Amino acid sequence: MTEIYPLAVPKGRKLKCEVCDAPAERMCAACTVTYYCGIAHQRADWVSIHEKICQLLIPLRTTMPFYNSEEERRHGREQLLQRQKHLIELCYKVAQKYLFEGKHEESVPAALHSLRFRTNVYGLNSVQLVPAYLLLSEASIGLGHVVQAEEYLSQAQWTVLKSTDCNNEIQSLMHRNLGLLYTAKEEYEEARYHLANDVTEIWHTYLDQHVQNQLSARKQPADILAKELENDTGLDEAQEAEAVHILETILEIRENTGKEKPASILFILKTVAILHYLMMNISKAHELAVKAYLLSKELPNKEDVTEALRDLLGLIASKDPVTLKAAKFFAGQGQ
Ligand SMILES: [Zn+2]
Ligand SMILES: [Zn+2]
Repeated sequence: MTEIYPLAVPKGRKLKCEVCDAPAERMCAACTVTYYCGIAHQRADWVSIHEKICQLLIPLRTTMPFYNSEEERRHGREQLLQRQKHLIELCYKVAQKYLFEGKHEESVPAALHSLRFRTNVYGLNSVQLVPAYLLLSEASIGLGHVVQAEEYLSQAQWTVLKSTDCNNEIQSLMHRNLGLLYTAKEEYEEARYHLANDVTEIWHTYLDQHVQNQLSARKQPADILAKELENDTGLDEAQEAEAVHILETILEIRENTGKEKPASILFILKTVAILHYLMMNISKAHELAVKAYLLSKELPNKEDVTEALRDLLGLIASKDPVTLKAAKFFAGQGQ
């Protein structure tokens, strides 16, 4: 970390803290264009994002150089715009990465910067602000600041309402975050509306494909099957984190609304079990698959589902000898 010097604030200039907008008492010695209310916010900002953007802020925050011609001025403005757009993306990605890692506190300063640069470039009413509001709301939910999360979400909703060019992606992100918010508030009815059934469908279709591939590979004669298929979700780390987060939230909602049909609880249980299996969280996968299996046996006309779950339990057991015994037990029950 850069050394920190107390700031001698020039008379008559009100400098504000980068994190909270309170009057500044300190300055970053490395860039000399960033100010803080105190050491706590300076440290928080450094860890989150400032270390990565400290030097990039200098050209943005120093006075524009003198231009010789209109042409040069235009070029200068264009360059400034490109730099800000670069920072919007960089700060957004950093904040998102922290969120995926469950580091909610660390993600806040980066998300705030993304919001700030978006406001500079696009203005206060642009839908471009919405992704940053959504990051901030999710971080707030993670920190247990539900009221703050609601404020960011209503900002996002309001911006979308006023705008005419809001795309589907932003709409579905908004529903996702509203679903998370209502789950945090234990308002499962509302949460259920926002995290609609098709989210589970989409994930199930995608994940089950991998399981079916493994199952058909196992049916090949041993000499054709060179080796057992490796477990792989085909997703990157961030996408896996998102899948776990969303699907486990949906499971929580369905188990808590009280009036959810057992078949739909069964479906999400199975989907989450497959996800954990493919991620090689074997004991978690086993626990969920057993739960789903037992539920399927209580339901009428669910023989095909029971069958599919027995196959899944077999696969899970094949990756872990400890669960093999249990799987044999369930296989025995089916005969
Ligand atoms: Zn501050
Ligand atoms: Zn700095």
